[in-house]
Amino acid sequence: MSKSDSYIARARSVLPGGVNSPVRAFKAVGGKPLVVADARGAYLIDVDGREFIDYVMSWGATILGHADQRVTDALKAAVERGTSYGMTSPGEIEIAELVCELMPSIEMIRFVSSGTEATMSAARVARAATGRKLILKFEGCYHGHADSFLVAAGSGVATLSLPDSPGVPTEVAELTLTCPYNDIDSVHEIFEKRGDQIAAVIVEPLVGNSGFIRPLPDFLPTLRTLTKEKGGLLIFDEVMTGFRVSLGGFQQTAGIVPDLTTLGKVIGGGMPVAAYGGRKELMEMVAPQGSVYQAGTLSGNPLTMAVGLAVLTALKDGEILAKLAKRTASLTDGLASAARNLGVPLTVDCEGAMWGLHFTSEPVRNFQDAKAGDAKLFSAFHRCALDRGVLLAPSPFEAAFVSEAHTDGVITDTIDKLADALEEAANS
Ligand SMILES: *Cc1c(COP(=O)(O)O)cnc(C)c1O
Repeated sequence: MSKSDSYIARARSVLPGGVNSPVRAFKAVGGKPLVVADARGAYLIDVDGREFIDYVMSWGATILGHADQRVTDALKAAVERGTSYGMTSPGEIEIAELVCELMPSIEMIRFVSSGTEATMSAARVARAATGRKLILKFEGCYHGHADSFLVAAGSGVATLSLPDSPGVPTEVAELTLTCPYNDIDSVHEIFEKRGDQIAAVIVEPLVGNSGFIRPLPDFLPTLRTLTKEKGGLLIFDEVMTGFRVSLGGFQQTAGIVPDLTTLGKVIGGGMPVAAYGGRKELMEMVAPQGSVYQAGTLSGNPLTMAVGLAVLTALKDGEILAKLAKRTASLTDGLASAARNLGVPLTVDCEGAMWGLHFTSEPVRNFQDAKAGDAKLFSAFHRCALDRGVLLAPSPFEAAFVSEAHTDGVITDTIDKLADALEEAANS
């Protein structure tokens, strides 16, 4: 028995499904969980010593690469000063100032420990600010696992084909309306009927949790116009896209100013950090300045803030992201041309340091289109890639991530390996 198999067997008896987060179980691709011992730069190394070029990168969090020197130095320095204070410390203020500078729509910010907390809290602020109950979300968008958002959710929920989760009361789920992503007509329809009851529209401005899906040019502007007209708020969930597709998030790329923004992943550089922020008068409603209660024992923890600050400081002049955008585009170009040569129907796209693929030749505009992709081919491709030492997210409904440690050499190596994997998968 390999070390991995023995750990997996032990894990299954003490952790539900052997994991602490569902997608890690590799169920969608029929594989086995990876048991990781070490991670360096662009590589993950499992307990059996197998090496993988990593395109999961802690689901997009580790944008500078694994065990990056700037991060480990900051963390080592911070840990010598204690692991948690439960009081305010300078790092929180510095990172808050930096985020407000990089994302002008954020005038005030509150740090939390997970994206789930960030979106849940942003929805609470929106409901308090508007005195309304309804939230509109889009099918296949994932906003964490709070009750309100486990309705037509993407990512792991979609991967496991779970219906809306048991344990979420119907009365709660009924307060969440859904439309297909990019479907402007159905958004108009729902706004006509219930626009004056909608507290907020929450959206992944660029989708990563149904696989990679780009908004149509009119989609986000329509959401902005309708929410303004009807007095609801627009929440951009940039937990995945923030500081990854551009420094100012996808809102900067799209030129749309949301009322509230949620952040996570890159902002903590692999530590449990997330945040929500936005217009000052909205954030002033949060306790203790206002009466919307939200708190956290470990919020703004000094270790996590030190890492987040080190990452954002490295990113802030924009050079790294510009470099990563080029490398990501050369990766997706290489993959697209390999697929063309093999006659495999593949749609592949990228923005900044985020990319994704769908096994279909049709345009993918929403979750329905994403589900029409060839899931069998994806599983075969995933397995063949893994055999060649390339780790992609183990689900067709996830995006992929490039870090600064993915050098031009690593990218070229990846293209070769993925082209081989594609050929074997297509012929299997
Ligand atoms: C990952 C993600 C979340 C949830 O963040 P967690 O830290 O896993 O709770 C929310 N929204 C989006 C867009 C995400 O990608």
